[in-house]
Amino acid sequence: MSKLIYLDNNSTTPVDLAVFEAMRPYFSELCGNPSNQHHAAGSRAARAVEKARAQVAAAIRAEPKSIIFTSGATESNNLAILGVCRASRTSPGHIITSAIEHKAVIEPCRHLEATGWKVTYLRPDSQGTVDWRAVDDAITLETLLVSIMAANNEVGTIQPIERIGEVCERRGVIFHCDAAQALGRMPIDVDRWNVDLLSLSAHKAYGPKGIGALFVLENRKAEILAPLCYGGGQESGIRPGTLAVPNIVGFGAACELAALNLEAETSRLRMLRQSLLGHLRSSCPDLVVHGHPTNSLPGLLSACFPGVNGDEFLYALQDVAISQGAACTAGSPEPSHVLTALGVGYDLARSSFRFGIGRFNTIEEISTAAAAIDIALSQVKSGHLAKYPLEGYSGE
Ligand SMILES: *Cc1c(COP(=O)(O)O)cnc(C)c1O
Repeated sequence: MSKLIYLDNNSTTPVDLAVFEAMRPYFSELCGNPSNQHHAAGSRAARAVEKARAQVAAAIRAEPKSIIFTSGATESNNLAILGVCRASRTSPGHIITSAIEHKAVIEPCRHLEATGWKVTYLRPDSQGTVDWRAVDDAITLETLLVSIMAANNEVGTIQPIERIGEVCERRGVIFHCDAAQALGRMPIDVDRWNVDLLSLSAHKAYGPKGIGALFVLENRKAEILAPLCYGGGQESGIRPGTLAVPNIVGFGAACELAALNLEAETSRLRMLRQSLLGHLRSSCPDLVVHGHPTNSLPGLLSACFPGVNGDEFLYALQDVAISQGAACTAGSPEPSHVLTALGVGYDLARSSFRFGIGRFNTIEEISTAAAAIDIALSQVKSGHLAKYPLEGYSGE
């Protein structure tokens, strides 16, 4: 049996061993509740949380006080969008976002539309870039909030966040940025970006699942954001509930690791992506690559094998974990809303895949995966779908 080669790191990443070791004591010996600081167990847990808060803040060049821990970027996005609307005195109003946001931004916007809010979904160009001038043009007197992601999770395109931040600042509009894919993959600077709110997730950056954060400018917190839940008053009352101490400690450790190796890791991932792209082009000369050629996340490759049946290809490629460009929900294949917004047609979207190279992938794995992809492509094209063993791969 050959080992699975994991090339789906934009979906989720494995927990780094150093992160896991940092978390371990907080499950048992150090089990205190940071809200109960009248004994040492509680105060030690509280200190661990504050250390992690500083580590997360440092990764985005923010003040620790501006970090609110949540369960992940889905919750952070919902809290940012719904919370800003709840805090607004002029309701319903207008929101500007893009057509290629994650569902965790699109869906709360759709919910608000159903309650009378107006939402503009800006269309990016064919490489996935949202024009900052289009944001400027879309702002009206009713506009309360702009929500644009830092980097797209399906095609990797990086947005002109600094320019969009400038526009929002100049026009007096609140700016939220979903930076779930950016953490650990590109530098984040909340001051330079001019963001009021920014969403993060630990599990996209070698931290545990179920923990994330919402950055909100400390001096605007009370003014622009209302809570969605009420309870024990934790996290300035904006996100109450007992803090997930092990996860928070792991998130902090993951942020510190990511910042430490960012530049070296970025060039290594670019090199691996280039190698994979070379292999794919020789297996499939008419390969179509999605997204921006340079202004893009380093390890992500989104590409289409024209004419290849996506489901058959994934079936043939059992030893390499990748994502399909068209998620099949309950038997009805829907092309990805991101590829559709980029102008990719239904058939091409159905033959598109995302390869997400990460920290633990090696150049050997890329060659082995490329060989397996080559075999799977010829199997699908010839109509023979027997499963081949991966030759020359020892399993480690
Ligand atoms: C993964 C992801 C999310 C959701 O994050 P969770 O922590 O899994 O809830 C939101 N936005 C983007 C861009 C993502 O990649």
